[in-house]
Amino acid sequence: MRYSRMFIPTLKEVPAEAEVISHKLMLRAGMIRKLASGLYTYLPLGLRSIRKVEQIVREEMNAAGAQELLMPIVQPAELWRESGRWDHYGRELLRFLDRHDRECCLGPTHEEVITDIVRKEVRSYRDLPLNLYQIQTKFRDEIRPRFGLMRGREFIMKDAYSFDADEESLDRQYRAMYRAYCNIFERCGLEYRPVEADTGSIGGHASHEFMVIADTGEDIIACCTACEYAANVELAPVRGESLRPDESSETPGPLETVATPGIHSVEQVADFMKITPGEIVKTLVFIADDQPVVAFIRGDRELNEVKLQRLLGADRIEMAGDSVVRRVTSAPAGFAGPVGISAGVRQVADPSAASLKCFTAGGNRKDTHLKNIVWGRDAELPEVHDIAVITEHDPCPACGGKIELKRGIEVGHIFKLGTKYSEALGARFLDSNGREQPVIMGCYGIGIGRTVAAAIEQNHDEKGIIFPPPVAPFDVIISLLDERDEELAGIAEKMTEALEAAGLEVLLDDRKERPGVKFKDSELIGIPARITVGKKFKKTNEVEVTPRRSGKTENMSVEDAIAKVLDITGSAPQKSQAE
Ligand code: ATP
Ligand code: MG
Repeated sequence: MRYSRMFIPTLKEVPAEAEVISHKLMLRAGMIRKLASGLYTYLPLGLRSIRKVEQIVREEMNAAGAQELLMPIVQPAELWRESGRWDHYGRELLRFLDRHDRECCLGPTHEEVITDIVRKEVRSYRDLPLNLYQIQTKFRDEIRPRFGLMRGREFIMKDAYSFDADEESLDRQYRAMYRAYCNIFERCGLEYRPVEADTGSIGGHASHEFMVIADTGEDIIACCTACEYAANVELAPVRGESLRPDESSETPGPLETVATPGIHSVEQVADFMKITPGEIVKTLVFIADDQPVVAFIRGDRELNEVKLQRLLGADRIEMAGDSVVRRVTSAPAGFAGPVGISAGVRQVADPSAASLKCFTAGGNRKDTHLKNIVWGRDAELPEVHDIAVITEHDPCPACGGKIELKRGIEVGHIFKLGTKYSEALGARFLDSNGREQPVIMGCYGIGIGRTVAAAIEQNHDEKGIIFPPPVAPFDVIISLLDERDEELAGIAEKMTEALEAAGLEVLLDDRKERPGVKFKDSELIGIPARITVGKKFKKTNEVEVTPRRSGKTENMSVEDAIAKVLDITGSAPQKSQAE
């Protein structure tokens, strides 16, 4: 491909709209352009990388026994009513009416549609196991689209769905997908980690997320420094030992009322009363599926909304507004506490709060806190569950070792769904005894665009992108410095042909531009290897080879240059490690 004919609108300036490096570089390198919030056009260079990732995904999915199909993007509301998600999915689901006033939505995911296919076509255990996948555009009306392709509203996903007759068979498919995902992210040149994950609104029993470690990641993962344990903090359990049960032998004093005008936050109360946050119980009021819930946690810990939501089995959870807080606590927000919560409201205490012998909390009256509250004496101890966010001070839930928190980008997610959808939609099969059973399902997603963005997030320098060879839009760029010199142009052509014959994708920079511009662009767009053909060749018969990653230029013969490029891009016959 000739650069002079290719549409690569690179930018010199850093676009103001972009916050993270991958977004900036994809705009600057002419890979993507924004149409509207969360909507992007993949320009030719960007699309090449997207297709590379898709191809890797396809190869590994096929190798793991999955079969590709393609489902519609528009889905009828009836199917979503059958699964119960029409009312529960929330506003990420873009709903609309067709010309016949039939309710439809744009597919954010395809459990309903694939289950509909299977319920109509699969009859017997002999039709199982089955694993079907597609690579397709999804639409989710994300509340905060950002970071370019990382969190778009329209984005490309690979989604696979497995169907099995029994749990063991599901386990086998799940493990096969787990391995396929490891292969995929390894081949994409990513530093990643599979972590235990929450199953979210899709529901199900077991789940792993594949996280690319990066400071700009939106997820936080808890990794053990001693063992293999790694989990999303949304789910990582906090072990009881870390809560230091209060062992003081002092008998708590009587309950005391303290006037705290305008003092709300844990920090303010601690300052005002000259105590530590660890002696305070924070009281938070939530609305979970329209029901108020009160949660208690020690003042120095953070409440984990995902754990609370899972515990309650709620579809939606959010902090309650002022009117609900007033109804539940008889006080404005900031003064809630366990003494005198309105009857009938569900209450949950974290072990950190439950294990305090005596503590300070809001008095459920404006400008009032209570001191020396004792569970059982002044307020009934509610049900106790771990609803805390794990910290680096907590031990590893698996081995007791030291926990480290890291940021990660979720590029893939695998779930064991069980029979949630097959039961709701009636996808059944006859087992070997002739009994009707619901099909057991799993689902497996990969964000294609997010994977490209994550690869850039991990592989770049101040000059631009450093593509891992398998996801690079081209393998090699040939910078022809004197494009009017026929001999040099001939050498560049010859090398292009030889490299293409070896299976590489070559971008021949034949533009009428200064060498500096050509070098800068080749660095910005991150092609793994560059060959420079310039005047020097006339004297020495040598060209320059520069691996993008090391940036170290070497002079060599045309033949050696070809061998070297094959080596850099990992295409050499004896597969050696790329630079
Ligand atoms: P997140 O927590 O980031 O919103 P999710 O849990 O909603 O992700 P899944 O429903 O598991 O995501 O979707 C499978 C994969 O699709 C994710 O692992 C991610 O790589 C990708 N993905 C999800 N939402 C987006 C988005 N808005 N933009 C780009 N990729 C996305
Ligand atoms: Mg999401």
